[in-house]
Amino acid sequence: MTALRKLFDSIIHVIDSDYFPEGADEVRNKPEKLEFSRSVPFIILHIGCLGVIWTGWSWAAVITAGVLYVVRMFAITGLYHRYFCHRAYKTSRPVQFLFALLGLTAVQRGPLWWAAVHRHHHAHSDEDVDAHSPVCKGFLWSHVGWLTSSRNFPTDYKKVRDLEKFPELVFLNRFDLIGPFLLIGGLAVFGAVLESLAPGLGTNAWQMIVWGFFISTTVLFHATCAINSFAHTLGGKRFDTGDESRNSLILALVTLGEGWHNNHHQYQSSARQGFYWWEIDISYYIIRTLGALGIVWDIRSVPDNVYRSAQARKPAGQ
Ligand SMILES: [Zn+2]
Ligand SMILES: [Zn+2]
Repeated sequence: MTALRKLFDSIIHVIDSDYFPEGADEVRNKPEKLEFSRSVPFIILHIGCLGVIWTGWSWAAVITAGVLYVVRMFAITGLYHRYFCHRAYKTSRPVQFLFALLGLTAVQRGPLWWAAVHRHHHAHSDEDVDAHSPVCKGFLWSHVGWLTSSRNFPTDYKKVRDLEKFPELVFLNRFDLIGPFLLIGGLAVFGAVLESLAPGLGTNAWQMIVWGFFISTTVLFHATCAINSFAHTLGGKRFDTGDESRNSLILALVTLGEGWHNNHHQYQSSARQGFYWWEIDISYYIIRTLGALGIVWDIRSVPDNVYRSAQARKPAGQ
């Protein structure tokens, strides 16, 4: 009976990420450690990439993977991070819902969990309680290890009261598997339609799933994790932020602008993280384009005093 109960609890928990029979606070107080059961989804994601051995490749599949990488990286940087977490601009409630739904397809859990963890990171950057500090807990732990520890799994709703008041967002946050299911289903249909209507492209449903979901999501996952690991170890510092956040052009290119992490730690509410025109920040250009189209508004910028403090410091090479 107990084993049956445990199985039932596990299944419900996979479906509803807010389901903790022992209580969310209890889980949050567990010791910080690598847990195999929580590693399984990441192992499956990586092993799925090997499906390419059987499906092969086609330009259609590779381009689909690339487009999905860019779109979903923006969903993480421009939507989860700059909109949901830092409220760097405003939009309407229906668009906010669509932003959250698009974010789910990045397979990085729900927007409230993401925002709560990240707000905690800013409040305690590179301190012992920072869940993913490479300075305190080592590079590998900051990159991926922390995601396998149960204590980091429950959404800390106390940190996202502003988002919790939207029941539709709480729903998506709880049932975040909706995102990957929609994506995999969409890719299967897309691949099957191309196979039947344009067989010359050499693609099919399975090939689209391997490239569009497994390979694209794995690369997206590591690029996002690199902000927790590399962006607190490699690169320059413009501001004395009291933590090890860094600025890196390479990371900024890979993550559509998130590499200007030292800038961002200095001033978090700005929609732009590349503070100067030469600091390439593609997410910001997209947000500005959405602003020009009237989809978002009240885009917050960098205050003058932040620029003045950068000039006052005059770091080498600036
Ligand atoms: Zn950081
Ligand atoms: Zn941030």
